[in-house]
Amino acid sequence: MTKDGRVAVIGAGTMGAGIAQVFAATGYRVTLIDVSDEVLDRGLAAIDASLDRLVRRERITDDDRRATIARITRATDVQATAQAAVVVEAVSEDLELKRRVWHGISDAAPQDAILATNTSSISITELAAGVRRPERFIGMHFMNPVPVMKLVEVIRGLETDDATTSAVTALCRELGKTPVEVNDYPGFVSNRILMPMINEAVYCLMEGVATAEAIDEVMKLGMAHPMGPLTLADLIGLDVCLAIMEVLHRDLGDSKYRPCPLLRKMVAAGRLGRKAGRGFYTYGD
Ligand code: NAD
Repeated sequence: MTKDGRVAVIGAGTMGAGIAQVFAATGYRVTLIDVSDEVLDRGLAAIDASLDRLVRRERITDDDRRATIARITRATDVQATAQAAVVVEAVSEDLELKRRVWHGISDAAPQDAILATNTSSISITELAAGVRRPERFIGMHFMNPVPVMKLVEVIRGLETDDATTSAVTALCRELGKTPVEVNDYPGFVSNRILMPMINEAVYCLMEGVATAEAIDEVMKLGMAHPMGPLTLADLIGLDVCLAIMEVLHRDLGDSKYRPCPLLRKMVAAGRLGRKAGRGFYTYGD
């Protein structure tokens, strides 16, 4: 895609802000869309802070930082996708919300725009069924934190065509990412494998096989994982982990994916991990 093409990112949260930053840093003009100016202020402040860290580490210059910020404009209505060559949706992980948002985008965006969702677990095929051109619809699953992580899981829905897939794959490379193409099944590859591992770690804790620290240490030192599964679950958010396990359990229909009762209990208690100050571990700030 030429850089004349505008990119619209819907959702200015953790992922949307990171995605907007990466596109703008590559030279694309980005429209960042969310529900209110207040949320957009927070998203843009997060981008600024992230770029500032890169300046301090001398990875980019202050001019790069300013130029990146200048390429991002803001909007509070999906009508702002009207000029977009690529739309990336990163709103909260809620099927009804995503359906509604995609309905609006499908009406507003140009006919030939690439329509990409950053969902972690919702069916690409099902979301695609609600837009006018399902062959242009695809999963573009960035990892958190977006500016740092190399992988983009590129997920083909049942109707996604080859032209869309190769355009998105090329786009990922241009962003400095490594695309890996997979098909649309619950949890794709990343969460199909990661979440049952985290869930099993919670079972180990619940059954008293070992302490949280010991479980994490075994997986770190024995399996060369950069962090243990319970530390990682706290980072992702236990509510997010539970929601993904529910999707795997419901959509694959196999009892091996049943969410661990302790995971449910932690979420019910509001111990959601790092963001709540408390999950399997306690966080000072
Ligand atoms: P988040 O809660 O940080 O951000 C979601 C944003 O969506 C919020 O700013 C919210 O205001 C906005 N939003 C809600 N309704 C909207 C609407 N109608 N129009 C425009 N914006 C709206 O969530 P997140 O962690 O950034 O996750 C976003 C998506 O990315 C989800 O689908 C999630 O599954 C996926 N994802 C998350 C991670 C992660 O580690 N957090 C990793 C990969 C993928």
